[in-house]
Amino acid sequence: MTKLTTKQKDAFLKQHEEVLAECLDKIRRYIAVQDVRVPAKFNGRLSSTMGRAQFHLFSGYLVEYSSKLYALATPEKIRNNMIHEICHVIGHRISGRMAHDRTWKRLMVICGEAPQRCYQATEANFGENTEKVLAAKKARRRGKRHRMACGCVMGPVQYKRIQSGSVKSYRCRHGIITKTTLQVKETI
Ligand SMILES: [Zn+2]
Ligand SMILES: [Zn+2]
Repeated sequence: MTKLTTKQKDAFLKQHEEVLAECLDKIRRYIAVQDVRVPAKFNGRLSSTMGRAQFHLFSGYLVEYSSKLYALATPEKIRNNMIHEICHVIGHRISGRMAHDRTWKRLMVICGEAPQRCYQATEANFGENTEKVLAAKKARRRGKRHRMACGCVMGPVQYKRIQSGSVKSYRCRHGIITKTTLQVKETI
């Protein structure tokens, strides 16, 4: 998958600060909110979601953005996602909850964005990269495949069946694989 350069990441993190200031401005026309520090960073493993916001009792707020999906999304979707996560944080300041609840929806609307929970792999969100995003989603749903010690490849469903014992054996062109001879060389 496409990767973000350090320069691109820095630019996005700067945009995050700008969007945060902008959201606070808009929301303060309706609701009193104190200043809040919202550190953000990129996470290379996130792929089921474009971003996530968390609150920890000791370290405070943290927003993580998916470097994989930020490399593929349109500028509009990226801005929408930043506002999505920032509204989670401000929502938490207001209601004590971090959820896709009424408070969060209201904040999204105040900030001028549609309150959508998840990202959709559509042209509007990913432009010419839509196919790539769809393929990655499909691959995740399928799960990982395993190359066995003999060189044959076993799908995730077969593998699980043998491993759990719900199926006793699997015949490959080299012989029979059972729970005890199940040996993974690599996961692909
Ligand atoms: Zn959310
Ligand atoms: Zn084999």
